[in-house]
Amino acid sequence: MAKKKTEENKQQPAVVNETSLAFFEKYINNPSPTGFEWKGQEIWLDYIKPYIDDHYVDNYGTAVGIINPTAEYKVVIEAHADEISWFVNYITNDGLIYVIRNGGSDHQIAPSKRVDIHTDNGIVKAVFGWPAIHTRLGGEKEEAPTLKNIFLDCGCTSKDEVEALGIHVGCVITYEDEFMVLNNRYYVGRALDNRAGGFMIAEVARLLKENNIQLPFGLYIVNAVQEEIGLRGAEMIAHRIKPNVAIVTDVTHDTGTPMINKITQGDLACGKGPVISYAPAVQNNLNKLLIESAQKANIPFQRQASSRSTGTDTDAFAYSNDGVPSALISLPLRYMHTTVEMIHKEDVDNVIRLIYESLLNIQNGQDFRYIK
Ligand SMILES: [Zn+2]
Repeated sequence: MAKKKTEENKQQPAVVNETSLAFFEKYINNPSPTGFEWKGQEIWLDYIKPYIDDHYVDNYGTAVGIINPTAEYKVVIEAHADEISWFVNYITNDGLIYVIRNGGSDHQIAPSKRVDIHTDNGIVKAVFGWPAIHTRLGGEKEEAPTLKNIFLDCGCTSKDEVEALGIHVGCVITYEDEFMVLNNRYYVGRALDNRAGGFMIAEVARLLKENNIQLPFGLYIVNAVQEEIGLRGAEMIAHRIKPNVAIVTDVTHDTGTPMINKITQGDLACGKGPVISYAPAVQNNLNKLLIESAQKANIPFQRQASSRSTGTDTDAFAYSNDGVPSALISLPLRYMHTTVEMIHKEDVDNVIRLIYESLLNIQNGQDFRYIK
């Protein structure tokens, strides 16, 4: 039965609420270093379990929530669960610690940050030290932070003391910065890239349940590990699920802040809506479905083009199996890979809405091929 437009507008699903925001905060504050994501995955699964029929976790920790697990046609919505971090690489005889990256951690922001070193005995605190401004010789060119000169100080004076704390080569290190809301407009925190994505796909599952939607296909809500070191978790799980369609969500750069070149990076901003991508890995008929879904539901969106690859799990799904129709919905974000990543509240709501509306528009068994 046809409904009037006004009624349809009234039925627009509610998005982030107090309970889901509390989950988001807890999820963000929990460290989830690449390769060591399991605690975050547990928190995520606990939240999503009431909204799914089944779930599993693979050998490397990718978590999959499933609605209609027996359906033949499989649609994936996906985000990545891992957080960039550091590894302990070398402990000096004086008890200082040099690090290497685990993912794209930024050496420029390290000096003066407080960190958590993850050991078998629990968290050990440390700081990235840096020579005082007074001791850096005036007139000389300042030395910039690089992997070769940033180091951690955990308050020890010898290697033995460091090791007695449970620290060894291979321990992972995360920053201690926590979630906050800025001016009631932005969520701020570490690794909103891409745990905001895990949050948003979980919210889609919640909306489907709360609105009593019976999808005609199997929905696989995938929170993949190890994206930050090369889309690895998505590669593994795409092979296992063998989906018919994949809608991936990740973050992209707000290019409106200083020192970013719009000529090369495009013109994208927080608060202006989800970003729809054009790239060879993006299947155009699926992309059209996303755009039409946005237009029908009055969801604002922006467009981005990527040369060659999107650099997101979209590529891993697209080029898996025999080629999986895949598309990317990105969340604009300021200051990527810093500890103060910022995303706009309305964009979060609108990405959730866009994924939700797109799912309602996918037919069971839909054939996305260009020529049939
Ligand atoms: Zn990233």
